[in-house]
Amino acid sequence: MKVFVTGGIGYIGSHTVVELQQNGFEVVIADNLCNSNIKVLDGIEQITGVRPEFEKIDLADAEKVQDFFSRHRDVVAVIHFAALKAVGESVQKPLEYYKNNLNSLMNVITAMREFGVKNLVFSSSCTVYGQADILPVTEQTPRKQAESPYGNTKAMCEDIMRDVAKVEKEMNLLALRYFNPIGAHPSSCIGELPNGVPNNLIPYLTQTVAGIREQLSVFGDDYNTPDGSAIRDYIDVVDLARAHVVAIRRLLDGKNKANYEYFNIGTGTGLSVLELIHAFERATGEKVNYKIVGRRAGDIEKVWADTTLANRELGWKASVPIEETLANVWKWQKHLMNK
Ligand code: NAD
Ligand code: UDP
Repeated sequence: MKVFVTGGIGYIGSHTVVELQQNGFEVVIADNLCNSNIKVLDGIEQITGVRPEFEKIDLADAEKVQDFFSRHRDVVAVIHFAALKAVGESVQKPLEYYKNNLNSLMNVITAMREFGVKNLVFSSSCTVYGQADILPVTEQTPRKQAESPYGNTKAMCEDIMRDVAKVEKEMNLLALRYFNPIGAHPSSCIGELPNGVPNNLIPYLTQTVAGIREQLSVFGDDYNTPDGSAIRDYIDVVDLARAHVVAIRRLLDGKNKANYEYFNIGTGTGLSVLELIHAFERATGEKVNYKIVGRRAGDIEKVWADTTLANRELGWKASVPIEETLANVWKWQKHLMNK
């Protein structure tokens, strides 16, 4: 059975392609490589022994998407990762973000409808919850007004899926709300490839330990948390990739309870920035050079997931211990430097 993975050369997409192939699915990828490198295909092939089909396509181009579906009539499901994802950049370039992220989803769903492809899994984010009043957040926790155009595209994409599902009864649409994806494949053949100076904590941390950055800034130690630093739910990228495989299976097996569903995908445990740094030091034996600085604008204080629904309905649970995840990211960073 063939799954169409948009954005499959990217960080989460590539790990998901590996899990799909290792679970017997065929994969075809479309990606415009705006935030990824074609060499990732070599990494996927090294791990799985299979080079997935690939086409360089801009999903925001409706005609190209139609043409793609017309040529791939054996696709039974789509996982839509392709999106721009830099929160800060989205504030500077809102139109680019709305155009890219909304059009690509609408183009994909429109072509699915035209060519009779029924099943879609979409990459959403815990950003839709903002700073929730009650933690952990469940799927019933009200969404809050997004802090950035990027966050808003996720909320709007969810709304598009919800509204389409009401009238396209044959279609099965499912959103996974990722918490904070981190880590790399244990083989070190694929991992995160940040462009320029990383914004996210883990790539900044590993680049600091590697000597590429001078010092890691911890943004804030005056939050209302046990050690004062902000709390997130860090989910291993391979665990996250596995969640897509079970979500696809749920749709293909007709086990979904509604034709639009959404699930939290996290570990269920919150870790503070300082706890994460110390866990990294324990896992790798390396020392992290960091200093406490002021809060970063737009950051929320704390969020972590209640994953009961995903555990029960998808039969999925995060399983990689945080130390193993952190050892893998360090191995990946060293691999990048030796290339
Ligand atoms: P990524 O940038 O590594 O991967 C996205 C891929 O999509 C890239 O390969 C990029 O080239 C491609 N792409 C973007 N726009 C495209 C277009 N118009 N046409 C074709 N290809 C296009 O990002 P990622 O971290 O792997 O994220 C994957 C998805 O998960 C995104 O939708 C992102 O918003 C979402 N998400 C990510 C995180 C995170 O922290 N990484 C958290 C929550 C949700
Ligand atoms: N963070 C930090 N220093 C950095 C990058 C991030 O202290 O250089 C903190 C950030 O303030 C947040 C957490 O690490 O509390 C996770 O940030 P990241 O950007 O990785 O993900 P976000 O939760 O913002 O999506």
